[in-house]
Amino acid sequence: MEERRIVKEFEKPFIIAGPCAAESRHSVLSCASEIKELVTGFRASLWKPRTEPGFDGVGFEGIPWLAEVSEMGLIVATEVMTPEQTEKLATDLAEKSKSSRFIFWLGSRNQNHLIQKSIAEMLNGSANVFLMVKNQPWEDERHWFGIIEHILQSGFPAERLILCHRGFHPGRLENPCEFRNMPNWEMAMKIKEKSGLPMIIDPSHIGGEAEKVILAAEQANKFNFDGLMVEVNLDPVSALTDKKQQLNIKQFKNLLNKL
Ligand code: PEP
Ligand code: MN
Repeated sequence: MEERRIVKEFEKPFIIAGPCAAESRHSVLSCASEIKELVTGFRASLWKPRTEPGFDGVGFEGIPWLAEVSEMGLIVATEVMTPEQTEKLATDLAEKSKSSRFIFWLGSRNQNHLIQKSIAEMLNGSANVFLMVKNQPWEDERHWFGIIEHILQSGFPAERLILCHRGFHPGRLENPCEFRNMPNWEMAMKIKEKSGLPMIIDPSHIGGEAEKVILAAEQANKFNFDGLMVEVNLDPVSALTDKKQQLNIKQFKNLLNKL
């Protein structure tokens, strides 16, 4: 398999940024306008998996906001959890922005391989939609590689598959560690090489706090990964999800300059 073809297609540096969640049309569009010259892709989730009850996303209501962002020339990236969401998103977004491309991702908590496969099957014919697979929360190389195999065996084309490392849950409650989720850079590189697929890094869910997000991105930068997906918010303090780890615009620009 030819290596990193997607990143070549999207041009380097392959940076996706945007808020954790799409909270309102205004917050989505104002963030996209601020960062559009700095990034290739814009992220914002319509549904949020939550550890404790809270804001779990605006759902389908946010589709027109994402369509507007894609009309700004950005590749819109968003999480899908069910085949039903995937089908509606792919149909509605394709209708609203015919020439645009999208990245739908499988989040770390979506670990039912039958769901993973049916989402991939749903997107098989959507040539403008890339599928991104985030690693599962627990550290297990075989499981991570297994997700990729399930998806490829369902017939989904490797040319439209991207991987994302977001760290592994540390799992030891009494042992607070440096990061929210521990990266395993060597494992991520191994999976990237073994699969021949592009691997981007999510330093936000690794770091868990703005300063550590920057530290994680700097560590990742020492390896030959293919890009970053960073949570950026014009007003992180007021965010309804992951407020501690979202960078403000100034912090994001500093990070890009550093790298
Ligand atoms: C996210 O990127 O919004 C997210 C929920 O990440 P993860 O699935 O890695 O926890
Ligand atoms: Mn988040």
